Amino acid sequence: MAISHPIVAEIARGVYCINEFGMDALFLITGAERALLVDTGTGVFDLPAFLKTLTPLPVDVALTHGHVDHAGGMGCFDRVYLHPADFTGALSVTPETRRGFAGQILQMAGGIFACTPDDVRIYETRPELLPLKEGDVFDLGGVHVDVYETPGHTPGGLSFLIREERILLSGDACNPNTLLFPFLPDGSRAPHASLEGLEATARKIQALSPLYDRNYNGHIGFGGEIAFLPLPESLPQEVADLCRDLISGKATWEAGGQMGLSAVGRFPHGRVCFDPAHCREGQ
Ligand SMILES: [Zn+2]
Repeated sequence: MAISHPIVAEIARGVYCINEFGMDALFLITGAERALLVDTGTGVFDLPAFLKTLTPLPVDVALTHGHVDHAGGMGCFDRVYLHPADFTGALSVTPETRRGFAGQILQMAGGIFACTPDDVRIYETRPELLPLKEGDVFDLGGVHVDVYETPGHTPGGLSFLIREERILLSGDACNPNTLLFPFLPDGSRAPHASLEGLEATARKIQALSPLYDRNYNGHIGFGGEIAFLPLPESLPQEVADLCRDLISGKATWEAGGQMGLSAVGRFPHGRVCFDPAHCREGQ
């Protein structure tokens, strides 16, 4: 029988990882007074009602970045925090792009989920977008969430550190399939979407490692894999070193990426997909 509800795991006390049918992972962090939802998924189920099953607290909403699979469900909230550099990206997400993404990933799951692209919810309103920047802190009552800027995958990429639980939520900044899109939806060059930009972000995540024990990306439980495992500890270092070696020519890339990206560079726990014609600063 196919799975008809999002799968949720309490990964630390009061911290929930919600697997949105293999498409992406949302995180709910609860304190004594408030809760914080990190990312809204693609938007294929009644997210506010689902959150009420996990906490009675008022919920603030923040995004790691403005892509379809993280901002897609933001229409069911009044106010959403994200980095201003991703406002345009988040506002360019449409029901069509959400359906397209859902179809692509649900196919990978091989029918284990009772979810289809037709489940994409249509929202009548858009939330008010509120700016987040490095150094901002969500005080949830005994639980603090610190905001760090980790651009590259998108210009406004953010990571969230759950201070007391020593958990980092790093979105798509640096994961086993890191994608560098050279252009923004309006056709302009995406700032930081370079090997130099990704190396800087990967080294930053690595440098933060004394503050966290676990690093979860935005696609925990991807496709048909039902698991709630953090990223390998060495992954940020591996990404940074690959970028450095691609820049110097010590490492080579091969043809064959995805989502319009034509090159792949490999590191021990994954790969970076990019466009070789636009992968360096200034290109
Ligand atoms: Zn993304």
